[in-house]
Amino acid sequence: MTAPPLVLVLNAGSSSLKYQVVEPLSGRAVLKGVIERVDPGQAEATAARVLDQLASSGLHSADLAGVGHRVVHGGPEFTTPAVIDDDVLTRIDSLSRLAPLHNPPAVAGIRAAVRALPELTQVAVFDTAFFSDLPDAAAAYALDRRLTARLEIRRYGAHGTSHAYVAGEAARFLGRDTGDLDQIVLHLGNGASAAAIRGGVPVDTSMGLTPLEGLVMGTRGGDLDPGVLLYLLRHGDLDLDGLEDLLHHRSGLVGLSGHHDFREVIGAMDAGGVEARAAYDIYCHRLRKYVGAYLAVLGGADVVTFTAGVGENVARLRGGVLSGLERLGIRIDPERNESLY
Ligand code: ADP
Repeated sequence: MTAPPLVLVLNAGSSSLKYQVVEPLSGRAVLKGVIERVDPGQAEATAARVLDQLASSGLHSADLAGVGHRVVHGGPEFTTPAVIDDDVLTRIDSLSRLAPLHNPPAVAGIRAAVRALPELTQVAVFDTAFFSDLPDAAAAYALDRRLTARLEIRRYGAHGTSHAYVAGEAARFLGRDTGDLDQIVLHLGNGASAAAIRGGVPVDTSMGLTPLEGLVMGTRGGDLDPGVLLYLLRHGDLDLDGLEDLLHHRSGLVGLSGHHDFREVIGAMDAGGVEARAAYDIYCHRLRKYVGAYLAVLGGADVVTFTAGVGENVARLRGGVLSGLERLGIRIDPERNESLY
């Protein structure tokens, strides 16, 4: 019997390349790995390293049916996965204007993978696609309509592949149909976002035009009075590049505490660090605000799901975010919460 075809999945981020070789029907990963501190200028060398690592596990391109690429921003045009050709790649590249730190490494990764594995079909899967039909009331910014229409400014969301998958898994875990559940999904990794999902259909999410809005993240601060940006440009000794660097790399947990990694924040907090404590509290407070907002958007929820590195591993955060919400219909079982991790 021939082995089932496998798919190589690549997630080329700004600082790392994560990969998995997956059996598409079962979803089982037969191999996974991370190459840290990837230089987008060295995408070809990175692709070669991935293929070397596959080969050392006995996997070759002949075992692969195709390659799937995670792309953060699909803009207004990519609402479903797309088979990659020159035209699609050019369009993804041009969407770098909306995700300047996320799309360029994905484009470099795709180019390198197409060169390394030219015989395979390569598919781009977009983080924004799940949210492409958000209701206007949630997607629109209250700005001049002509301006937002001309520049395609709206809420696009992010982490959609995760939110869609996790909503499905939560329903499966509960033995219910996704269509029967109102869910709040909290994706808390280095980047973080919340989604309100009614019967499997997203109705709001915290990420916006770019992956900067919403929750507090490792290096991004999330929601901000837009007046702060004007004030910084006028009085903060920052030019546009400096502001971009501040918002993407020097805000959020790292700006507040000096640590972008949640494990380090907790370590510093438990050692008595005042700034780390404040960072943790601000992170939790923002999350509670979004849980409350999405409970109102949905008119109550059946499930609140935590996922990604922080959501899956930090029991006290889950407990803290959902404590004291009994009047809103949320009760957390401390023993079961702690017993997860
Ligand atoms: P991404 O895919 O966005 O790079 P992950 O989903 O891997 O991110 O999440 C990374 C975050 O999860 C980091 O802040 C990391 O510190 C945190 N994390 C991972 N494992 C743990 C743990 N056991 N305890 C606390 N935080 C953790």
